[in-house]
Amino acid sequence: MAKLPSLSAGRGVSVVLPGPEHSFTLAEEALAELLLRDDVRDRPVVVISVAGAFRKGKSFLLDFFLRYLHHTYTLGESGGDWLGSEDDPLQGFAWRGGSERETTGLLLWSQPFKATLPSGEKVVILLMDTQGTFDSESTVRDNATVFALSTMLSSTQIYNLSQNLEEDDLQHLQLFTDYGRLAADSSKGGKPFQKLQFLIRDWSYPYEYPYGADGGEKLLKKRLEVHSGQHEQLQALREHIASCFEELSCFLLPHPGMRVATDPEFTGKLSDIDADFKSHLRQLVPLLLSPGSLVPKRIEGERVLAKNLLLYFKAYMNVFNG
Ligand code: GDP
Ligand code: MG
Repeated sequence: MAKLPSLSAGRGVSVVLPGPEHSFTLAEEALAELLLRDDVRDRPVVVISVAGAFRKGKSFLLDFFLRYLHHTYTLGESGGDWLGSEDDPLQGFAWRGGSERETTGLLLWSQPFKATLPSGEKVVILLMDTQGTFDSESTVRDNATVFALSTMLSSTQIYNLSQNLEEDDLQHLQLFTDYGRLAADSSKGGKPFQKLQFLIRDWSYPYEYPYGADGGEKLLKKRLEVHSGQHEQLQALREHIASCFEELSCFLLPHPGMRVATDPEFTGKLSDIDADFKSHLRQLVPLLLSPGSLVPKRIEGERVLAKNLLLYFKAYMNVFNG
């Protein structure tokens, strides 16, 4: 029997990098190597991206996604504990810094995961990490390209937020989706983007809205409510967001515990993470990544094959660098 690839053999590949004068460069060769593989090129893609401010646990979360994907789609196990053993350090996309921490751009995991949907359709799952800073109005604008690109190229965009869903988080989202709409031709009708998952980290009001998907849904409904007493601008913002995505959902995650948040020696091992966080990860990850939850990428209504995703990368980059 062929040896299955191990997760530790994979790595995050930079596919969009910062260039001179606020431009971005496409690492075309690296991207082609990934998307034009014989066993990948003709499959529809499912692209899962995590975006949001720097140092809010995006890469950390993606490394749990990798564990689930590896367990389910590489090892082909449908049950069992994908979260792993208590003492394993967390591997995958580099988290909590390291040398690449100040760079912006998009990374893809070097191992595509091949999956079969409940319909029998064979797809390939790509995992996308985004890097950017959001610490001032100017960095938000600088990084809007990165977030717009990740929104346009993914079928599920996870908007990772710390502590709460505030008005300026919605305004940032409007900025990214506006940029995205510039490039995507929405004249074909329908909404330009597919699934948007708000993910609130360190949620600390479980007595108001409980952790998990149900509390998230209630919070989102409240925040996106349009009512007559509201300022016109607030109404327009909410209508804009609803008009951009086919599906909106929200999940509230508890704080992972002080070891995760503050211990410089923390390696990501499960025994150092709060039980409540782990039990909610067990709920969240299959909601996004189980075979029945996968959303194949569509652009203008058409399924996108891996080899064609490469063309979209090039076309969108040209628009932004225009
Ligand atoms: P990224 O820049 O958004 O990719 O953030 P990283 O994944 O590199 O994580 C940054 C830091 O946040 C690390 O020290 C993690 O241990 C920590 N961290 C990860 N998840 C959480 C979380 O849910 N809450 C808190 N408070 N810290 C987290
Ligand atoms: Mg990161």
